[in-house]
Amino acid sequence: MRSDAEATGSPSSGVDRGFRLVLMGAPGSGKGTQGRLLSRKLGIPAISTGDLFRDHLRRRTELGVAVAGYIDSGAFVPDEITDAMVRERLGSADAEQGFILDGYPRTLAQVDALDRVLTAQGTALTAVVALDVERSTVIERMRTRAGVEARTDDDPEVVIRRLDIYEAETAPLIEHYRSLTRVLEMDGSIEPARLSAMISTRLRARD
Ligand code: ADP
Repeated sequence: MRSDAEATGSPSSGVDRGFRLVLMGAPGSGKGTQGRLLSRKLGIPAISTGDLFRDHLRRRTELGVAVAGYIDSGAFVPDEITDAMVRERLGSADAEQGFILDGYPRTLAQVDALDRVLTAQGTALTAVVALDVERSTVIERMRTRAGVEARTDDDPEVVIRRLDIYEAETAPLIEHYRSLTRVLEMDGSIEPARLSAMISTRLRARD
């Protein structure tokens, strides 16, 4: 059975029309891929803070210059910079009917900042989708990806640092979110197209 959640409502149609999703998972767990696939399926933008930062880096904007050191070393960009960038992006017209956030929030302070933005909009998250992949698998995936994408932070040592930081700072947020919203835990080792179909089925079934 399909709910009407797929339909796009007017901007004032409230929390139950568009999907407002947070994708969580370790670096290399497939958030970017699932963000793109779900964006197409659900007709809402995928917003990746990593991609937004990399775009600033490429264009050498003031923000790009300010964040380069953090990104190259695998450290988090300070919350106030990240929060402001996300707040602005979520204020764009194309995010009114829903969005998929990839890579945000990553800290408890960011969880609160996102909550404030959504409360001010009169909306709320629909669900958190957590992609679970073994550490050895993500290390292998990132080793392969490093050859293709040549990201400055795909250096093996930086990859390990990003994973450690994820496990210490961000993974605990999944538990925290359980008391706030629906959390779908998915096996991120499933083939991407099949996984995105499984995620959208579960979202629409609202199980
Ligand atoms: P990953 O593959 O580690 O998930 P991303 O592309 O999401 O990488 O992010 C790349 C880098 O951008 C991070 O290591 C960090 O420096 C910065 N970054 C992205 N999102 C955030 C965030 N929410 N808070 C702080 N820094 C962030």
